[in-house]
Amino acid sequence: MARIMMHSIFQCPNCFKALKQGERQYFCSSGHSFDIAKKGYVNLLLPSHTGAGTPGDSKEMLQSRREFLDKGYYEGFSNMLNDIVLSTLSIDKDSEESISILDAGCGEGYYICRLKNSLTDFCDSIKTDIYGVDVSKAAIHYASGRDKGIRFAVASNYHIPVLKGTLDCILCSFAPRDEGEFRRILKPKGKLIVASPGARHLYSIREALYESPEEIGQKGTMGEGFTFLEKKKVNYEILLKSKQDILNLFTMTPYSRHAETEPLEKLSEFATEVDINIFVYSARPAGRSFK
Ligand SMILES: [Zn+2]
Repeated sequence: MARIMMHSIFQCPNCFKALKQGERQYFCSSGHSFDIAKKGYVNLLLPSHTGAGTPGDSKEMLQSRREFLDKGYYEGFSNMLNDIVLSTLSIDKDSEESISILDAGCGEGYYICRLKNSLTDFCDSIKTDIYGVDVSKAAIHYASGRDKGIRFAVASNYHIPVLKGTLDCILCSFAPRDEGEFRRILKPKGKLIVASPGARHLYSIREALYESPEEIGQKGTMGEGFTFLEKKKVNYEILLKSKQDILNLFTMTPYSRHAETEPLEKLSEFATEVDINIFVYSARPAGRSFK
């Protein structure tokens, strides 16, 4: 039986050679193979890529995030992200080449699926090659049910199973980032878009949970492999109108790991702030020193 082999930009996590997609497996030329799950994703996470225990967010966190996101509370942020990708990539509608995008730490796929739809809305003849990786198998399992046109893999952001120099754009939203890996897999003119919580993000949750809440510390920008292009701020208020939505929001935050839900359980309505910073970088050309 002839094997149907499809091109992908995935690389073998064992020997780093290109992986080709067959009907039921991905293969490399050294003979390593990786089964494609019924849902359509592939697990490229090696045991050596993670510590002990189940990596990534728990099922409870995922379930809550999925319900919360599907209610549209972060739609404003997602729309801004999509606008930034469209303007940053300066898409040529007549180009024969497909645009390759990876969501590194894609969670349950909400943002990358909405991005794919927004690219198609922008131009329905646009060719896209879209990928999502996340270290949580439960997250990828759900993500791959959202859109069969996106290739999802279980993988760590510190060992991204993607070939060198193949991506036009990487999105990294609220996820760990590995500069070396991002630089390796971007094309020479590729763009990196990083979203991270601003100082006031969900501040009223911290106010409800802690006696003396603090603002979120702001982490530094990317290092020498990247050139900073611009920073955009997304800031708006959301009003949660059901107990379930309030608990979902709490469960999807890191606070759920060590704070009690009690102060939030009595509430039937809750207003909070979405405050997110989006940074755009371009890959700095190799071999040039800016020191
Ligand atoms: Zn291999």
